[in-house]
Amino acid sequence: SHMSHKEVKKIACIGAGYVGGPTCAVIAYKNPSIQVTIVDQNTERIEAWNSTKLPIYEPGLDHIVFTARDGIVAPLDHNLTSGKPMTVQLASTMNGGTLITGLDGHDELCPRPLDLGHAPNLFFTTDMSSAIADADLIFICVNTPTKDSGIGKDYACDLKYFESAARKIAEIAVSDKIIVEKSTVPCKTAQSMRELLEANCNPGVRFEVLSNPEFLSEGSAVSDLLNPDRVLIGSDSSSTGVSAAASLSDVYSWVPRNRIISMNLWSCELSKLAANALLAQRISSINSLSAICEATGANINEVSYACGLDRRIGPHMLKAGVGFGGSCFKKDILSLVYLAESLHLSEVADYWKSVVAMNEYQKCRFTRRITHCLFDTLTGKKITILGFSYKKDTGDTRETPAVTLVRNIFAEKCKISIYDPKASEQQIWLQLAEDGGKLEKLKSRITIHHDIYEACEGADAIVVATEWDEFSNKAITPRGPSAWTPSSILRGVSANGNRSHTPTNQIPQGETFSRV
Ligand code: NAD
Repeated sequence: SHMSHKEVKKIACIGAGYVGGPTCAVIAYKNPSIQVTIVDQNTERIEAWNSTKLPIYEPGLDHIVFTARDGIVAPLDHNLTSGKPMTVQLASTMNGGTLITGLDGHDELCPRPLDLGHAPNLFFTTDMSSAIADADLIFICVNTPTKDSGIGKDYACDLKYFESAARKIAEIAVSDKIIVEKSTVPCKTAQSMRELLEANCNPGVRFEVLSNPEFLSEGSAVSDLLNPDRVLIGSDSSSTGVSAAASLSDVYSWVPRNRIISMNLWSCELSKLAANALLAQRISSINSLSAICEATGANINEVSYACGLDRRIGPHMLKAGVGFGGSCFKKDILSLVYLAESLHLSEVADYWKSVVAMNEYQKCRFTRRITHCLFDTLTGKKITILGFSYKKDTGDTRETPAVTLVRNIFAEKCKISIYDPKASEQQIWLQLAEDGGKLEKLKSRITIHHDIYEACEGADAIVVATEWDEFSNKAITPRGPSAWTPSSILRGVSANGNRSHTPTNQIPQGETFSRV
């Protein structure tokens, strides 16, 4: 391509979380000539990123991070395209990279030579100053939570972390920078960002602000990043804006050019909120229909399958379940509601509020169904909750429906056993305690298990709260009591993330098995 725009040699990323970590690790992995430094003020998190036990779990992420960070071709245990576990058959040097062949016949081309000794180009640090000073381009990937989450409270997105990152950049930068909004932010944030930077910068320093929202989905972050549906780049239409957008587009070197979409800043910022709102809306819509199914004898899986076959509707994000969770859907809809209200569009605000309200309804409805199938009393009984993360293939427990579930049934005076393959014990307690309830009191009747069979032993009911693959009929029946039978609770599955109709050889999320 022509050289009218600046080549990016050094990248800094502020925020080493679920987005900043994987996104910038993949950028480093795919661009051995770009030096990528990820900074965070959380020392513990940075230490974990620098260790052999990364702070977040994503299939394939270890290989990506260790390869770019340690200057080796790290072991690969997941097919990077499908996210499925893979066994490597052989690895050989090819075209300066390493061809890794899996036993499933699938190849991965790692863009590093097999022999030891290439230069690491991915760094994790708490030292903001040097990371920012050196960078040509800076991603801001900090969290943007709701100010005070919940209907009837404040819907606005809290930009305090975003603002403090921006102020830090203005203070430190002594050369021109491209600033990239990677965090999900309200529409028009780039404008206030630009004003803040210009008012606080060192003399002669110029900033170009771009919007580049992230669409990765937790649990499939690596494959989403390697093969994105689209990469949006929003810029203003000045020549410097267009040139900065071209520099950023080069950073996505592995993405086919027709998937990189340029647009104006405000469309770009709004597209992220819109996409999440539409995805959550599909889940609330199908969940609303699940209530009708249970009342009539229709089967929500059949209804969902039938509707999904219509090409105009499609099968994705169309499974009924225990309600959506995760740190984004609710927050981003509330941000959209706030935007609509501030524009005096109250009908629009009410429409999107109903998506969140339906989700709250579904979570509570599910609890009532559990109680109902246990003769309307849980007192003294043992309930096993399988899965605590908000969806499969992630250890993330933020806003997980399991919290509502556990809190509601705990109030019914039962004992609760929890098992999740990836969510850490510490995170589970943290989430439960955050949602009211003293830890000591919770611990008197709640146990967290590391073994699924132990967790299920002697239970009066097993509730599948997350659609982890390992919660299959096969996994539970061999050692479990033979009298488990599926009750009629919320058949069918999945909150976020499920990509297509899956056959029912697994216990779906949202089913309860009770002793007959
Ligand atoms: P996160 O909480 O996991 O990570 C944010 C990190 O930023 C934290 O480690 C925090 O310590 C750090 N941080 C905050 N302020 C800082 C500062 N001033 N200086 C240095 N570090 C700072 O959040 P996340 O899940 O990675 O989400 C980040 C953004 O990306 C949010 O806006 C979110 O809406 C958006 N997003 C998230 C997802 C997702 O699946 N999690 C997907 C797409 C977009």
